[in-house]
Amino acid sequence: MRALLVAGNWKLNGSQASINTLVADINAGLDSLHQTTVALVCTPCVYIPLVQTLTQNSTLKLGAQNVSKYEVGAYTGEVSALMLKEFGCDYVIVGHSERRALFGESDEICAQKFVMAQQGGLIPIFCVGETLAEREANQTELVIRRQLQALLDKIDVQDLVNSVLAYEPRWAIGTGKAATPEQAQAVHAYMREMIASLNKSVAEQLQILYGGSVTGSNAAELFAMPDIDGGLIGGAALNADKFLTICRAGNKA
Ligand code: PEP
Repeated sequence: MRALLVAGNWKLNGSQASINTLVADINAGLDSLHQTTVALVCTPCVYIPLVQTLTQNSTLKLGAQNVSKYEVGAYTGEVSALMLKEFGCDYVIVGHSERRALFGESDEICAQKFVMAQQGGLIPIFCVGETLAEREANQTELVIRRQLQALLDKIDVQDLVNSVLAYEPRWAIGTGKAATPEQAQAVHAYMREMIASLNKSVAEQLQILYGGSVTGSNAAELFAMPDIDGGLIGGAALNADKFLTICRAGNKA
């Protein structure tokens, strides 16, 4: 059985003061999680050392929201996978739809970042998802296949063992309108089948998260679906009670 992963994506939010309080409050509630549930926070880059310190004696995992496609050199403003690893990150979000839509990250760039993250010892959380127009045009599977295929063109399917996929329909992100458990499950199953056609064992091990307006009220029914192995949480991850409620919502063990 795959373990549950609940990953908070703080996006461009927080201050030293608010993060001190948020992490202390999350730490205080971690005992109430099922022992196989992993809770993770993906912080803005500058706060990584702070959160590294705050999670030193905690099971809360630390991740970043972005990584450079380059390893080292004259790339002003970039942060490498090795740098993130050096400051205690285990995970990094790659290909979030906000990076794809607002910062011009193509399928190709996202795939390059995945490779670089793994080379630096990080577990990439590779996001895919369709827009509302694409869903309404019945193109959801086409889009998901294209995004995943761009990744599979760059890696060996076996590399997916040290990664996580996330299905995040763009129309559900930050809108309060989550996919129904059935809608999400259908896409998760499609993704797992696509991987299974290449390697069944990898597909069975692979964690696939759902993201898009997950709350304490809908998390349990989403996480109960057979191919949903946790969540990528935006807004609700900025509140310790809400985040912990979501972390407690599933028990797949
Ligand atoms: C996200 O940004 O990955 C996300 C899922 O956001 P929200 O939970 O706020 O919809």
